[in-house]
Formats: sequence, C-alpha cells, structure tokens
Amino acid sequence: MSKKRYLVTAALPYANGPLHIGHLAGAYLPADIFVRYLRLMGKDVVFVCGSDEHGAAITVKARKEETTPRAVVDKYHAMLRDTFQKIGISFDIYHRTTEPIHHQTSQDFFRKLNENQEFLEETTEQYYDETVGQFLADRYIVGTCPVCANPDAYGDQCEKCGSTLSPTDLIHPHSMLSGSVPVKRPTKHWFLRLDQHEAWLREWINTGIADGIQLHNPADWKNHVIGQCNSWLDQGLQPRAMTRDLDWGVDVPQEIPGSEGKKLYVWLDAPIGYISATKQWALDKGKDWEPYWKSDETALVHFIGKDNIVFHCLIFPAILKAHGGFILPENVPANQFLNLEGRKLSTSKNWAVWVHEYCEEFAGQEDVLRFNMIKKMPEQSDSEFTWKGFQETNNNELVNNLANFVNRVLVLSHKYYAGVVPRIEPEITFNSGWETAKTGQYNEELNLLYDKLQEMGAAIERYELREALRILMEISSAGNALLQFNEPWKTVKEAPEMVKVVMNLAIQYVAVLSVAIRPFLPFAADRLRKMLNLNPLQDNGDLLEILNELVEGNPVIPAQHALNEPEHLFSRIPDEVIEKQIAKLAATEQQNQPQSDSSSATSYQPLKEMIQFDDFAKLDLRTGTILTAEKVDKSKKLLKLSVDLGFETRTILSGIAEYFTPEQVVGQQVVIVANLAPRVMMGTESQGMILMAEDAEGKLSFVSPAAAWPNGMGVK
Ligand SMILES: [Zn+2]
Repeated sequence: MSKKRYLVTAALPYANGPLHIGHLAGAYLPADIFVRYLRLMGKDVVFVCGSDEHGAAITVKARKEETTPRAVVDKYHAMLRDTFQKIGISFDIYHRTTEPIHHQTSQDFFRKLNENQEFLEETTEQYYDETVGQFLADRYIVGTCPVCANPDAYGDQCEKCGSTLSPTDLIHPHSMLSGSVPVKRPTKHWFLRLDQHEAWLREWINTGIADGIQLHNPADWKNHVIGQCNSWLDQGLQPRAMTRDLDWGVDVPQEIPGSEGKKLYVWLDAPIGYISATKQWALDKGKDWEPYWKSDETALVHFIGKDNIVFHCLIFPAILKAHGGFILPENVPANQFLNLEGRKLSTSKNWAVWVHEYCEEFAGQEDVLRFNMIKKMPEQSDSEFTWKGFQETNNNELVNNLANFVNRVLVLSHKYYAGVVPRIEPEITFNSGWETAKTGQYNEELNLLYDKLQEMGAAIERYELREALRILMEISSAGNALLQFNEPWKTVKEAPEMVKVVMNLAIQYVAVLSVAIRPFLPFAADRLRKMLNLNPLQDNGDLLEILNELVEGNPVIPAQHALNEPEHLFSRIPDEVIEKQIAKLAATEQQNQPQSDSSSATSYQPLKEMIQFDDFAKLDLRTGTILTAEKVDKSKKLLKLSVDLGFETRTILSGIAEYFTPEQVVGQQVVIVANLAPRVMMGTESQGMILMAEDAEGKLSFVSPAAAWPNGMGVK
C-alpha cells in the first residue's frame, strides 16, 4: 500500500443480460471490498466500471429479442446499474461504452497505434454468411471447440474451457444467424502485432520488470493468473485482428483509408472503457484524469474473472504500451468460477441466482448475499454456492455470532447504564475474550484490537478476502467470549466496577466493528452506526482514525456517550424461504431436461406400415432456401414462405409459426417435397411441404444439407 493513489477497475459486463452471483463473486464484490477498505484507510482511490455495449454479444441478443442493439443496451444498462447499486457495489462511476467520450477515446487510441505502426493491415479470408450477407466474427459463428470439444463454442471464446479462439479454429463452424455453413471471403483488417510485444510481456509477467524498472513483485500475483499468461506466451503470441466487419460498434476513424464499414474489435474498445469512464468521472468532479492513468505513483488494479485474464494481462497491457505514456496494472487478482448447487452457472440454461431477483425477494438482506459470496469466493480455485449453505452461514455466523454480540452489548448497556457508555477505572482486570483463563487489561485489549484490524487489512491488501472476513469474525467471536468469560449478568452486583470495564470494552468492540464491517457488510455498518448513535461513516479515513486511537490504547467511543436502542442487525432465515429457492432451481432443472426417463421410454411413435422402394421413389425431394417469411393472418401455426428452388420460387405454407419467427427462418436451407399436390389453406395455395424433424415435446427442427448446398438439387 505504498502508492499515492489507486485506480481500481471491475470487468465491464456485457449489457445483454442480468447479473448473476458468479459475476458478483468473481469481480464486483472483491473490487468493492478492496475499494471500500482503501477509502476507510483515507487513500485516494477511483473505482470505475460501466456497461460494455458493443460487439456481437449485443447484436446477437437484439436479433433474438427482435429489437435493436440500442434498445438492448438501454434496457440492460439500466438493469445492471440498478442491481449494482442495490447490492452495494460502490462505483465512483458506472459508465457506458456507447457514450461519445468513449468513442472518441477509443478512436484516438486506434489513431495512435496506427501512427506508431503497431498494426499490420492484412486481407485475409474470413467466414461469410451468404444467406444473410454478413461476415461472421466472434459470437456470430459457433462450432466445436478444438480444445475441449464443446459443440457450442463461439468464434471468439469457448465458455466451457475458457480458451480464446478465432472463428477459423472452430470445427464444423456454422452461422449463428442462419445456421448455414459459411463460406470464406476476403476482407481487410488491422492486426495488432502482439508477436512484437511477446518478449517484454514475458519478462513483465514473470519478474514484474518492464523497461528495466521493477513495477511490481510477481509473488503478489495469483499463481493461476501467471500460469494462464505463461501458457499463452508459450504458444507464441500472434498478430490479432483489432477490427471487425460489423454495423454496431466504434467506427474505425474515417480518415484512415479502407475504414468504411469497419468497427473496432470489442476487446480493443472495452478496456479503453476504463479510461473513458475515468475521464467522465474527472469531468463530473472537476478533477484531472491523467495522474490516475499516467503517474508512476498510481496503482492500477483490474478485478476480473478468470475468463478475462488474457485480455487484461497480455492484450490490454500491450495496447497501453503500444500507445505509450500509460502505466501497467500493478495486479490483476482474477478469481476462478463459482458453481451453483453442484453445477456450472449458466445464463442460457437459467442455472443461476440472479442478483436483481435476490434483491427483490430478500430486500433488506443484501449483506447476507455479500457475506455468503465472500465466504465462498473462488479466490484460488472454483467454489460452490448452495442455498443450504447460505442459510447456515446466515443463522450461525451473522445471527448467532455478529448480531447476537451487538444485541447483547446494547441490551445490557441499556439495562445497567441506561444506554450511556460507563466511566471506568482502566486498571481493573477481567477475563480476556481472546483466550480462556487469560487476564485482560483494558488498554492492552485495545492494542489487541489494533493488531487484529491490521491483520485484516493486510489480508485485504493481499486480495485474500475470505481470510480478511475470517479475521473480522474473530473480533466478533472474541467479543462474545468477553461477555461469556465475565458473565456480567451474574457479576454486576458483586463486582460492578469490573463489569463497567468489561461493558465499556464490549462497546469499543461494537464501535470498531461498525467501521471494520463496512467493506464487507456496508448496509449493516450504517445500521450499526445508528444504533451506536455515531456519525455515518465518511468512507474517507474512518478506519485509519480508529487505528490511531487503538494503537495508543485509547477508546474509540468516549464514556458518557449515549447509545440508541438496539435493533436486530440480522435475523434468522427460516427453512420455507430456502425451500422455495431450491424448488425454483429444481423447476429450472426440469425445464432443462425434457427428454428424461418417462418421456424417452414412451414417446416414440410406432413405425408406419412397410413400403416398397418404388413408393419412396415417387417422392420428389429438393433442396431450397427460404427467401421470405411472414405470419398468416388469423393463424397461430402457419408461416407463409417463399422458397427458392433454383429453377423456380414456390409459395409454401408451413405449420412452424409456434416455434420460429419469420426473421429466424429467412435464409434457412430446407428440404421440400416438391411434387406434393397443391393445397389451399387460409385462402393461399401451398405448393409443397417442408421437411421438419419433430421431438417428443413437439419441438421442430429443420432438415437441411450439412453444408451450404445449391438449391433445387435432389435428395435421395
Ligand atoms: Zn473449449
């Protein structure tokens, strides 16, 4: 903690969906604890984040929701911003990458990198979807991961194994837009010459030295972070495309030849979002943003999940260095993944605890989720959240330990001293709460509190937040033991002066806790300050102030101070509440497994009567492509399609409207029965039939050639 100021970032979430507990435990909560602690220590710190509103993740979502990218990002940005606020993530600014200041900042970066000849301009063959007329970058293309064989890997990343990919790495690639197999077409892009940055990145990651200067101690970095970086470096860094053929994103600066229709790669502009957010914060506050990004006296810390390590530890540092004038991150304390009830969290399978839903269903208990997330934080390896564990942690630790201690101290203070902190003779000894049969002395005990707070702070500074929370709870346990070992309820008559010392000390514990819990349990800290009739925390040196008192053996709350009435800091969570949540997940599980036991055994249709080859040969099956599709008035089931058969275009009515929107089927390759006698349905003549596969639930899937195929060809 030797740096003069801190710039702390938390991964920009894609504005294409809500926040779940894995995101919270991975990046936002650890960042918030770290920042809140720095503020309590009086440090100059700025905490920035914002919505990542560009890239295929957004446009694919817009397509799915049948709306515009702008509508998607507006909706989810507001949702994310409100959720972060409700769960107490204390950003100094929550920005958006669609803001003009961000577009300018990103374009300036691109210009500078271009001037510095950091790019290779290359025309390469990229996948192109002919049916919709679009290049397929990143999430527009899916296929089998070459590393782990996950069949649903994206063109930029496999979410199963975390590998970063290029579309050309995928096995069996197909278009996210039409499902068709793409062709390759030439297109020009700007490639960052990461190969030229490999040597210094390797040295910096492994020694903390860049340009001959020791910037950080690599022993302070997590092993798994350095390990992942080295596995990348060992494969050799390749030039990486920093532009895309897309219609949503930051434009490649106009004056650069060939920029038309080109957008910045989302992983170029997103981390620059940290810089543009800092600029906007500085504008709002009348400050200068530059020292936070350019001064050696600033520590830059990126909080992320492990799937973002390569971008924050190799690519973004290379971009900053290539630009020049920017500092490198002092640490990137990436977390591993949090699992839920034995399984990987999954947005698409709805296997998640959504933070906005939690905040509604558990209003006023935001700190309980935070506490659980910290207890289960996947700091070094993957970890697991369970609702039973959530309940146990709340009832055993927050209620029985912390809330119980606070309540006993306040109730007894009101009972014995009318809620006024008693005057004491500090030389009177008592039983210490820290160890059985150890004599306690008032000022020494205050020194002990100082030591514990120092230990807790040191753990936070090492990004060991589970350990920090454990130490915090030790203070509360020792407070409970202080009461238990001295039994004021029995001794208040015969040793009133000793009890005064014990109770005064217990009140000091509670006052210390009202500050020390702030990084972890910010809402409880506010409630506790009120009960103690103390000023709200300023989040500016509050902990430093009490450390300065405790080290001198001074109390932090003076004698004669009047306390307010106690309230319950935390309450027990009953079984019904937990069972409801478990039932909710069980329902999700059911939905995810439609072909389980009973249905698979009984749902096969019986085989039809045997036919001869000649019967089959009468069918004229042809390949075709759906050109247009529209709903049919007054029909729930029918879509009216025009299908290109190569030699002619047919109008076909198909009963697929309950499963597909018109937009979803345009461009789809199909097989049709081309010699079926025309039929009039809903006033329209249908000239053929489209083959569909149907599952036990009645869900439909197109039958089409495995690769892009000419129209009008026979199927046998
Ligand atoms: Zn994979």
